[in-house]
Amino acid sequence: MGRYNELINPQALQYVLENSVRERPLLARLREETSRHANARFQIPPEQGQLLQILVKMLGAKRTIEIGVFTGYSALAVALALPPDGQVIACDVSEEYTSVARRYWLEAGVAGRIDLRIAPASETLAGLIADGQAGQFDFAFIDADKAGYPGYYEQCMQLVRNGGAIALDNMLQSGKVTEDPVPDGDAAVLHHLNQYILRDERVDALLLPFADGLTIAVKR
Ligand code: CA
Repeated sequence: MGRYNELINPQALQYVLENSVRERPLLARLREETSRHANARFQIPPEQGQLLQILVKMLGAKRTIEIGVFTGYSALAVALALPPDGQVIACDVSEEYTSVARRYWLEAGVAGRIDLRIAPASETLAGLIADGQAGQFDFAFIDADKAGYPGYYEQCMQLVRNGGAIALDNMLQSGKVTEDPVPDGDAAVLHHLNQYILRDERVDALLLPFADGLTIAVKR
């Protein structure tokens, strides 16, 4: 599984993949195509896609946000879990990566549920807030440039309703956040964000030692 899931016992993970993960053939094909990409590590593993689907269903989510689309695996997983009138506002800056995503969303029949916004996510989110859409979303998934995470988290806190959830990927940084001292750069940014969320009275949250560290924060 590459750099993902190196924190999980490999035999336990293999067991989960064989006995618990149900990945649709189209998602498997997208994952296979993306695995040949130079930035293949940007893609979430299948068990994480399945967890996002379960979260969306548990929340009864209709309106969702994704920050960091890449080749579209997680947006596709979420869109497939939404009701027919559900919506993913998908933020990314790359036309090239998301051209792969669009192809699979069309083939899956969920392209109408995914509103792709090619622009810096902070601008797209600020636009939604300015448009009066604060509190109008059920779920947000943050999986983009790590330097942007603290800002994305605050914007998503405004956009998600009470009882809605924010999921943040790569919060363990392959274990780098556990080093002493924590290395500068992405690991330091996310270590500070982990500490911030721990003390954030607006949410109930947990950093799951799963995949590359997935934080789930439920807005009170
Ligand atoms: Ca990621």
